[in-house]
Amino acid sequence: MNANLTTDRPTFVTHLECSMTGERYDADTVHGLSRVGRPLLVRYDLDAVRANLPRPMLEARPTDLWRWRELLPVRRTDNVVSLGEIETPLIPIPKSAGGGNVLIKDEGRLPTGSFKARGLVMAVAMAKELGITRIAMPTNGNAGAALAAYASRVGIETIVFCPEDTPEVNVREIAMQGARVYRVNGLIDDCGAIVGKGAAEGRWFDLSTLKEPYRIEGKKTMGLELAAQLGWQLPDAIFYPTGGGTGLIGMWKAFDELERLGWIGAKRPRMYAVQASGCAPIVRAFEAGEDHAERWEDAHTVAAGIRVPRAVGDFLILRAVRDSGGKAVGVGDPAILKAVEECARADGLLLCPEGGATLAAYREALRTGEVDEDERVVLFNCATGLKYPMPEAPNWLDRHGSIDFDAL
Ligand SMILES: *Cc1c(COP(=O)(O)O)cnc(C)c1O
Repeated sequence: MNANLTTDRPTFVTHLECSMTGERYDADTVHGLSRVGRPLLVRYDLDAVRANLPRPMLEARPTDLWRWRELLPVRRTDNVVSLGEIETPLIPIPKSAGGGNVLIKDEGRLPTGSFKARGLVMAVAMAKELGITRIAMPTNGNAGAALAAYASRVGIETIVFCPEDTPEVNVREIAMQGARVYRVNGLIDDCGAIVGKGAAEGRWFDLSTLKEPYRIEGKKTMGLELAAQLGWQLPDAIFYPTGGGTGLIGMWKAFDELERLGWIGAKRPRMYAVQASGCAPIVRAFEAGEDHAERWEDAHTVAAGIRVPRAVGDFLILRAVRDSGGKAVGVGDPAILKAVEECARADGLLLCPEGGATLAAYREALRTGEVDEDERVVLFNCATGLKYPMPEAPNWLDRHGSIDFDAL
């Protein structure tokens, strides 16, 4: 068995901290949001991590998510759950990138087919460690699937609510992996309100994104992994499809921790938060110079994973984007679908629509000179394209008729 999953290792969590006020909270007890209603961040004794985990030791381990154990919150190896969270590959797309120096980090290879596995494997492991037995969550699809899979595996009961137009495949995979799943006539924040009400009544634990502290720690591994894969040199820019923003916030946190370990320098990638122009609250707030984003009304886009009208971590996304010298950018559905199609046809890589959004945004950034051709850029493809509807392929052949081979 993978040594990362069998060895008891010291853990280094010191406390949790409100991302808005800095107020301290005890580790090892159940937490939701902070007292002011904002996300809690996990803090570590990074000096002790540096002393206990020399970089060569980390580099000698199998390259999966659990190799980062010392920088993750789970205390007891017994509570680690895994479906095989591999290090996801960085894939060049020389033809569809439009000439630039681009790598796609293909998160579609993870268990349940999306990077939601990173967040949920951690949140479920911590729920197990903290004795939680019943979880509810709103989802646009992929998060619910990852929750269902990991929670069933450790015997935690799950109730999942999704918007009524959530893709059929997502609703079914959630049900198939053991959750009770309900379609709701509303958007993801309407589903979140139901989860919040049940949680307030003590019916279940609310595992909404950023409303518990550990999903962000799981998503943080994208930043850790990227640094290791690129020889501890971060790229010049990262394009991230931003819904709740957990991954962007998590990577930003990872870079800080790596710098404090002395494993990377002070240079940071410019972070581009990519949204669909039919649901772009972060872009609107970025352009208006605001610290918080108002709810986006009538949200619509083919990229369901980033159809999030309101994000509880809005200020953290905006802060990371601004501090990095990046931007929040919107792209339309036609550009998203075109990018998906061109990448599949020319480079053989089937992106999800959210991944297509990052490619569309990147090509626009190349065109306007926001990004130079020779800059190294990483785009996130966050789910396998196989989960999403594809254009029809209607050709049909009668094997009994005469076949015009020249026309095939
Ligand atoms: C959830 C999701 C996103 C958005 O991720 P956040 O970190 O919540 O912003 C993007 N793409 C896909 C496919 C997703 O499932």
